Amino acid sequence: MALPATPHSPGRLVVLQALKPKRCSACRRGPLSLLVLEDDAPRCLDCADLGHLVFLPRGDTALTRRSREESGLSVVVVRFNRRKSRYERQGVLVEEPALARAEARCLADAEARRRRRARDARRRAAEDEHFAAAFAAEILRLFPGCPADRARAIAAHASARGSGRVGRSAAGRALSEGAVISAVVAAVRHVDTPYDQLLMRGVTRYEARRRIAQAVESVLRSWQETGTGVG
Ligand SMILES: [Zn+2]
Repeated sequence: MALPATPHSPGRLVVLQALKPKRCSACRRGPLSLLVLEDDAPRCLDCADLGHLVFLPRGDTALTRRSREESGLSVVVVRFNRRKSRYERQGVLVEEPALARAEARCLADAEARRRRRARDARRRAAEDEHFAAAFAAEILRLFPGCPADRARAIAAHASARGSGRVGRSAAGRALSEGAVISAVVAAVRHVDTPYDQLLMRGVTRYEARRRIAQAVESVLRSWQETGTGVG
């Protein structure tokens, strides 16, 4: 049975994955897994002068593209899909040194990406640290009586990357007084008052806030005074 015509322009070299076991019409070797049709006769890769090439299965787009760039000769490998009645690309045959160079380029890229990610992470960490320090300084400017470790903890919490907390908002970025005060109030509410316990007991948020308002006020007032350091 003759295979259907391949969908390639005449003269374009293409290698077929055999659907049935076939022998080379020149050297009689077989069965062949990969073959070239010459005048409808199957030839093994050696007889078709392609024996020096290695098969690279499809799937890695960058590696395939680079292997073909690096390879003086490259040939597409196709297989006929009977159900869909069409040829489907299975991979390419390329020169082995070309594949090795392409793999090296892809590895170098992966390494470069890894290093860039590490650099970015270090830069973000430095930015975070810088921002948290500025935030803590602003807390202490507004609340000189706030213990330094509390200020640092509030600033670190508020500026935690990706948390969507107040410190990360545009206002927090700008270290607006409003943003800094909100972060401090939230921290005082959770740490210095029974706010969370009230919520746990089923008290509504509004009622819980009403009950602790006085306590929050008194902590904030004490922190606004220099050096009293409550909490
Ligand atoms: Zn042969």
